[in-house]
Amino acid sequence: MDKPKIYLSSPHMGHQELENVKDAFATNWISPAGPYINQFEDDLADYCGTADAAVVQSGTAAIHLALRLIGIQPNDKIICQTFTFVGSCNPILYEKAHPIFIDSEEDTWNMCPDALEQALKACQKEGDLPKAIIVVHLYGMPAKMKQIMAIANNYGIPVIEDAAEALGSFIDGKACGSFGDFGVLSFNGNKIITTSGGGALLSNNKTALEKARFLATQAKDQAPHYQHSQIGYNYRMSNIAAAIGVGQLNILHERVAARRANHDFYMELLQGNSGITFLPEPIGYTSNRWLSCILVDPKKTGITQEELRVHLEKENIESRPLWKPMHLQPLFASAHYFGSQVAETLFKTGLCLPSGSNLTPEQKQRIANQLKTVFSS
Ligand SMILES: *Cc1c(COP(=O)(O)O)cnc(C)c1O
Repeated sequence: MDKPKIYLSSPHMGHQELENVKDAFATNWISPAGPYINQFEDDLADYCGTADAAVVQSGTAAIHLALRLIGIQPNDKIICQTFTFVGSCNPILYEKAHPIFIDSEEDTWNMCPDALEQALKACQKEGDLPKAIIVVHLYGMPAKMKQIMAIANNYGIPVIEDAAEALGSFIDGKACGSFGDFGVLSFNGNKIITTSGGGALLSNNKTALEKARFLATQAKDQAPHYQHSQIGYNYRMSNIAAAIGVGQLNILHERVAARRANHDFYMELLQGNSGITFLPEPIGYTSNRWLSCILVDPKKTGITQEELRVHLEKENIESRPLWKPMHLQPLFASAHYFGSQVAETLFKTGLCLPSGSNLTPEQKQRIANQLKTVFSS
């Protein structure tokens, strides 16, 4: 294959990141302590409109810490959106709790408030209400937070918002990650901004985030020696990663604009094709359009989404199926599920197209040529 690879979503550095890293070296703040950590935390809280943010080594670690802060015990039930990446729910298993998976609805592809209510009613009947609800804003599209928060508040259950894919997404100007008791961000290499790897926990509860920092640094009690009375983790972000993050967050608005432009590009290219559908933004919703996704109706297009993926792969263009729902994963075979196969259908018909903020016009032309070839034949 001589054509260079076009990636689904690759890191995209600005100019300030390397300068910050050089500064961290020059001042010898190399460890998980230092000025960039504090600055990145302040900047994130500012941007998302929360009282505080704690930076850690991954989004998965942030979800794990949120579960610990809520006080999850073995055998507790935890509600989680089924249509997601496994990082949303692996921490449920770390704590030996039991996930209950909730289907998506068609307006946002995220947690269906009706299925959530149905699950909570069933749990209430058994006298065993879930201890937390994990809702996800997939591909940057905000979930129906107004409805979900109303239901959660009605039952008195804390909400963890997995905004790993939704930094830069808003509902009526309010940032994803700022609605729930805890919000989670990821700065993994494929996300809208990256620190090489990393994550953050957002909250208006400053005491809880102080505890998160304590748990993330091996839960050292106050003492001149090393004294421990709780399980802790080595989860804190390094000052080097935070130095990159500070630079990346400064140009997030450009990254969001570029990703949204990608989505417009695909819509314009394919809108004449009745077999292809996109996910529109509900009124008041702003998606960062982290990944541009299409649903393919093979009866109308003559090609399945998997055949399209294989075709693009042969041209060295990376695309990816939508997330396989968690209740269909072997890992979660015994978990309960509430819904009506919306997520399953999305998985069976959907494809994520190359969506990097650093796609060049030449790369877009290559992709456009292939999509035109496939859909005109
Ligand atoms: C990336 C991602 C995570 C996990 O983040 P990491 O930083 O990779 O641990 C969790 N949930 C969703 C929806 C994600 O896309």
